[in-house]
Amino acid sequence: MLVVMQANATEEQIKRICDVVVELGYAPHPMPGPTRTAIGITGNRGPVIGTERLSLLPGVHELIRITAPYKLVSREFHEADTIVQVGSVPIGGSSIAVIAGPCTVEAREQVLQVAQAVHSAGAVILRGGAYKPRSSPYTFQGLGEEGLQLLRTAREMTGMPIVTEVMDTDTLPLVLEYADMLQIGARNMQNYTLLKAVGRTKCPVLLKRGFAATIKDLLLAAEYILDQGNDNVVLCERGIRTFDDSARFTLDLGAIPTIKQLSHLPVIVDPSHAMGHADGILPLARAAIAAGADGLIVEVHHDPPYALCDGEQALVPESFQQMMIQLERVAAAVDRSLLSPTNT
Ligand code: PEP
Ligand code: MN
Repeated sequence: MLVVMQANATEEQIKRICDVVVELGYAPHPMPGPTRTAIGITGNRGPVIGTERLSLLPGVHELIRITAPYKLVSREFHEADTIVQVGSVPIGGSSIAVIAGPCTVEAREQVLQVAQAVHSAGAVILRGGAYKPRSSPYTFQGLGEEGLQLLRTAREMTGMPIVTEVMDTDTLPLVLEYADMLQIGARNMQNYTLLKAVGRTKCPVLLKRGFAATIKDLLLAAEYILDQGNDNVVLCERGIRTFDDSARFTLDLGAIPTIKQLSHLPVIVDPSHAMGHADGILPLARAAIAAGADGLIVEVHHDPPYALCDGEQALVPESFQQMMIQLERVAAAVDRSLLSPTNT
């Protein structure tokens, strides 16, 4: 349920609505808009009871029933696009943010070299995993805290904020000490305990779509985070499992306009995990921007054959730089531009 206030409603009238919503046993979410404030109501298990009382209160324009199972993430609740601020970098809005870096932090030289290279090519956020969710328990699992420290050094060197994966609630406090943005990986998209825990922080979250998750599942997962009070969520389409196994996953480009219609949250695309090999990344990245993505997250490695994780899909710095030149042109064709390290 959404209570839309009159354009000239006073602060007291808005507060009164919030108080009555609490009195009815629900949670109010006041959302000031450019012309009027709307107050979302959550916490109801069935229809909201007591609407007659709300509609009679002074300053109320109308009550709108929200039909979607997710509320706080829905466009119905919040019409304008949300912009998530990661350090000095805005994700969402008219410009496009490119996140790049290695799949995994492997060593000091590796991460610093790649960070420097992607920064000079125009990336605005550095990615890199210190805790890695690997399909096999026998493969490299990440450097843990040492990896986080190396990411911090890379941030100091380049000025880029860092996004890194948090795999569980045990390591969340530690990861929070280092990360500017927390990544929730595809394998953890439905780890509701973790979603609630990151929801209790104010740290921006990059929520990746599970590879067997519907768009509704993804939006409901995001709802867990917003419901705990953290509105800083960016959604990521990274490919889903289909019957076709010619690429690592199948990039669902249609998810971009669909999510944009259903939700106000920014959407970015990960062409690297979708494709699984370096050759296909440029066309998917171009397509993602053309389809309306607010950003990309791309894996880059200075020496892919020696990468400890996801070497097949890593771009070398020179290819990444070439890609950025092309993406600038695609962005311009859809009336957008790439954020550059100098204008963040
Ligand atoms: C990653 O970004 O390195 C990663 C593991 O991604 P995903 O969770 O999408 O598989
Ligand atoms: Mn990876």
